Amino acid sequence: MVTAVIGAGLAGLTVARQLAAAGRAVRVFERSRGFGGRLATRRTDTAAFDHGAQYFTVQSEVFRDTVAGWREAGLVLPWSARFVEIGAEGTTPARESIRYVAVPGMSCLGRTLAEGLNVMTQSRVVALTPTGDSWRITLDNGETYPADSLVLAVPAPQAMTLLEGVHRFATLLGKVQYASCWSVMLQAEEGLDPGWDGAFVCDGGPLSWLANNRSKPGRNGAPSWVAHASPAWSDAHRSHAQDWVAQTLLRAARELLGGTPLMLESVHRWLYARVSHPLGEPYLWDEMLRLGVCGDGMIGERVESAFLSGHQLAERMLQG
Ligand SMILES: Cc1cc2nc3c(=O)[nH]c(=O)nc-3n(C[C@H](O)[C@H](O)[C@H](O)COP(=O)(O)OP(=O)(O)OC[C@H]3O[C@@H](n4cnc5c(N)ncnc54)[C@H](O)[C@@H]3O)c2cc1C
Repeated sequence: MVTAVIGAGLAGLTVARQLAAAGRAVRVFERSRGFGGRLATRRTDTAAFDHGAQYFTVQSEVFRDTVAGWREAGLVLPWSARFVEIGAEGTTPARESIRYVAVPGMSCLGRTLAEGLNVMTQSRVVALTPTGDSWRITLDNGETYPADSLVLAVPAPQAMTLLEGVHRFATLLGKVQYASCWSVMLQAEEGLDPGWDGAFVCDGGPLSWLANNRSKPGRNGAPSWVAHASPAWSDAHRSHAQDWVAQTLLRAARELLGGTPLMLESVHRWLYARVSHPLGEPYLWDEMLRLGVCGDGMIGERVESAFLSGHQLAERMLQG
């Protein structure tokens, strides 16, 4: 009995680890070179930038216990920094909260959670075919793999595409919506200190977030800043030229930092960044076909949502 998990983000890795811990044979397919999905870090010769999820918070007991274990293992630490809100009226302290980050980069969490699992990276799944009582998985290089059970742990629109004409879950997944996000990675001069480390921006401009990446624990290297455009701005400029977007966001970041010189390192567009309309069910599971779907699209826009969705699906699968 092999379970195939598509996607090595937090949801997929959570399912895979729980099933493997219970003695199930699991194979994970991941289209990119690394692990962690939107828990992502881009490294250059001199600096590193968390250009996806910035941090995560904890609400549920089960996630609290898991995060406590990660903390003990030295995988995550609280980001104790100066957070502010920048609005049209000025700058005020942001709401207090314990914000966790993986160390030394967000992507390290995925890399560690993948250890010991059978994960095939650079393996993009392009087709799923039910074959009697099992599944055939086809990769973009034409290779095929059989699986007795199948879990899709990819953003809902991508799961929908794979299930269209294959399973009724495609219709349900069509209801889930995501906002996109343009993310720019910026280099600054040593010593730049505007008096805060992370800013929630709501000043009417394009940005919704600007942070000193190096203020996170465990980060060394050259000064690195990350700016995110707001969901509304990102969606409105989803198809604009990357260069124009990068220059526009660079200007906005410079203005927020009082005209300080900043250098553009890189720009990235997350087409499916944050869930704006979740499905409202923790996971989908078809016992007959042994097909499951999980990920943040099921319940919310947060790292914790992805974890809980994967965790609850694995529990359900282990009952059967
Ligand atoms: C810019 C940005 C900022 C964010 N900020 C925060 C924040 O501050 N706090 C917070 O809690 N959350 C934040 N989030 C949201 C958080 O990152 C996500 O909710 C969470 O990481 C989703 O995990 P997941 O496992 O469901 O999906 P993903 O992380 O997207 O994992 C899906 C995986 O599937 C792979 N995949 C996709 N299609 C295929 C295929 N066909 N074949 C094989 N593999 C495939 C992908 O490469 C990816 O690795 C942010 C996200 C972004 C993008």
